Amino acid sequence: MTFNALLIEKDDAGYRATVKPLTDDNLPEGDVTVRVDYSTINYKDGLAITGKSPVVRKFPLVAGIDFAGTVESSSHAAWKAGDKVVLNGWGVGETHSGGLAQRARVRGDWLVALPTGLNTRQAMAIGTAGYTAMLCVMALQNHGLKPDSGDILVTGSNGGVGSVAIALLSKLGYRVIASTGRVNEADALKALGAADVIDRAELSAPGKPLAKERWAGVVDSVGSHTLANACAGTRYRGAVAACGLAQGMDFPGSVAPFILRGLTLYGIDSVMAPKPLREQAWARLAKDLDLAKLDSLVNEVPLAGAIAAGADILAGKIRGRLVVNVNA
Ligand code: NDP
Repeated sequence: MTFNALLIEKDDAGYRATVKPLTDDNLPEGDVTVRVDYSTINYKDGLAITGKSPVVRKFPLVAGIDFAGTVESSSHAAWKAGDKVVLNGWGVGETHSGGLAQRARVRGDWLVALPTGLNTRQAMAIGTAGYTAMLCVMALQNHGLKPDSGDILVTGSNGGVGSVAIALLSKLGYRVIASTGRVNEADALKALGAADVIDRAELSAPGKPLAKERWAGVVDSVGSHTLANACAGTRYRGAVAACGLAQGMDFPGSVAPFILRGLTLYGIDSVMAPKPLREQAWARLAKDLDLAKLDSLVNEVPLAGAIAAGADILAGKIRGRLVVNVNA
């Protein structure tokens, strides 16, 4: 039986992404085979599809760092045919063939049960970006930040992590300041739950070690000067959850916010996050995310459309979340 997959190849002919028919013999080792319903385009998928960063480290490899679908066969004790599952990370789409395909084979230990209340399309509307946003929100809450602690800054607001973070935080009662380069989308960000929208130019240039205390917490998917300025503007004993590098991987900051204001900087990794944390994050997403707002963030493309979408996400042209219907 053949199935379609977005294959990344690198050889004498160069680096390329093509939708190709594969067979089960092309699937990697694993104890669970899944019929994929949906995958997504995350920023990392954009890097993998275009080859702009060395995300894919084994060739040929099916792209796609996440998927949701139905177990077709399993020799893993936790899973049986018919189970609905979600996968994020674990090197899938990097060193192990991934979710931008009609079929995938993975280790059962990597899978999370689709939470009650979400279908597979909604799970991928959330995707790795939304699950990471939830990990960031959980880090701020575990730090002790409550809605009355003060505002929460969300950077990269029109992106996948940022937009889901805004929807989550506003539903939880926090007042959100959304930072964006696309201020023309301010109305959409306010509809999502932002109380205030600022131009990302306020944060993206080199700044002072300490700035006026403007927010109690931050969800940052941008890195670089934006992260440094976000730290500099955080209130006494506040917290910053850093998960991304859309502006850059550098962190040109100062120790001043840490030693003078007791700032805590949490690093958020979704790829190797332990299973209990993933299960908690997915359960919280099913409970704390307004599904109508989620729907307003979603565009859908067929598998072949994922190639152009990979370049578009790196160019900052995608708003919200892009779901890939691998069977279209
Ligand atoms: P998106 O491309 O959807 O969003 C990124 C957003 O960042 C853009 O929409 C844009 O928002 C803003 N942005 C882009 N370029 C710049 C720039 N040069 N300067 C300032 N802001 C910029 O990506 P995702 O939301 O999927 O991912 C965001 C980041 O988080 C990526 O770096 C990704 O690798 C990382 N990530 C990390 C994870 C982890 O496990 N740590 C998991 C998931 C994502 P706007 O237009 O509103 O300004």
